[in-house]
Amino acid sequence: MKEGVAPVWREAMAAGAVIALAGLTAWALLTPAWGLTTAAAGLAALCLYHVLYQGRLWRWLNQPAGAPVPAGAGTWEGVFAALHRRARRAAERQQELRVALERFRNAAQALPDGVLILDTLNAIEWLNATAESQLGLTLDQDRGFRVTNLVREPEFVRYLESGQYAEPLVLHPSRTPGRTLSLQVVPYGAAQKLLLSRDTSQLERLETMRRDFVANVSHELKTPLTVVSGFIETLQDCLREIPVEEAERYLDLARDQALRMQRLIEDLLTLSALETGAAAVAEEKVPLAELLAEVSNEAQALSKGRHRVELKGATDAYLLGSRAELQSAFGNLASNAVRYTPEGGSIEISWTAVDGGGLFRVCDTGIGIDAQHLPRLTERFYRVDRGRSRESGGTGLGLAIVKHVLTRHQAVLEIESQPGRGSCFGIRFPARRCLPA
Ligand code: ADP
Repeated sequence: MKEGVAPVWREAMAAGAVIALAGLTAWALLTPAWGLTTAAAGLAALCLYHVLYQGRLWRWLNQPAGAPVPAGAGTWEGVFAALHRRARRAAERQQELRVALERFRNAAQALPDGVLILDTLNAIEWLNATAESQLGLTLDQDRGFRVTNLVREPEFVRYLESGQYAEPLVLHPSRTPGRTLSLQVVPYGAAQKLLLSRDTSQLERLETMRRDFVANVSHELKTPLTVVSGFIETLQDCLREIPVEEAERYLDLARDQALRMQRLIEDLLTLSALETGAAAVAEEKVPLAELLAEVSNEAQALSKGRHRVELKGATDAYLLGSRAELQSAFGNLASNAVRYTPEGGSIEISWTAVDGGGLFRVCDTGIGIDAQHLPRLTERFYRVDRGRSRESGGTGLGLAIVKHVLTRHQAVLEIESQPGRGSCFGIRFPARRCLPA
């Protein structure tokens, strides 16, 4: 500001001095009338000059910001130069602000959480892409609208209006069904708010799975435990009155139930060790012929001659992996075939080399499985027929264990089954797991 004042006054005084001097000279050399006329003409020229440049200044002021400052002469050159400098500084500051804002927006866009900026009336000023997808909003369409008109769940409206934001709100937004969000408001500035949203659907699913798992395990253990304690009570109360054979039968039944609990706990420990998956899978060279023979012998022992068990596809190749895990997976499929095949049926265990890899298969002529159950068979405790599984000594964890073992060996489970006709469970190994003799 200061820089323009002195030259303006200086030039105004200089112009006044020149007009006065010209008037006095004309007065002295010619007549007083000429002196006055010369001074008046000088003043008129000065006025015209200022009116001209004031007009230019006025026009410039009415142009949109950023229009070039007009050029000036004399006093007005300084004025316009000062205005030009000021306009340039303002443009630079605006550019700096634009860059800072862009940087902030980029950072907020990159956040894995949703961010909404709300004004004092809870109207949306800005939101990032995560918030758009989590809350089902669109920045271009919804900017300026009150968020409570768009996210209308009563608990959300209450939360926003309560002013109590210490705890986050858990919300199932109707605009994005199936999602669970954790919303938290952070007040800032003059009654403005940041609304942060986090997708907790996966966490909630895991929590539900954990709860179901605990409930299932408790239920699975409670049933045999009730039976065992029932038998013990009966024996305590009337040991002297009941015949020895009956007491022995009770003890046998109690032992069966104890074994069932033991199997369940062993399976749970196996599953937990596989799921924790801390140790990488052992890279042992397992002779396939030996492994297949063991699985087939185990199946025969379990069948106790009730089925025809056949081993096909002699091979001298090797499988690369954990012997114990592979044996557990193959054994589970073979034992299922025995347990779900009625007496007189047949079971075929086979190995086929395919495209450098290999296919292990257990086919039975058993009860089969309805197609609707196939996608869920590897879930923990999923059974087609709960009663039948228990009767045959199942824990409901066999195929879950198989699935984990296969994942660790990059192998794939294939199931074909027809109710009443039988099932084929196959494990397809990639080439890198199959070594020639
Ligand atoms: P379980 O201990 O109950 O056998 P699994 O996880 O091994 O548990 O198997 C899950 C379910 O899949 C079983 O309860 C059974 O209903 C079905 N199933 C598995 N294998 C067979 C098969 N070979 N034939 C018919 N049903 C089978």
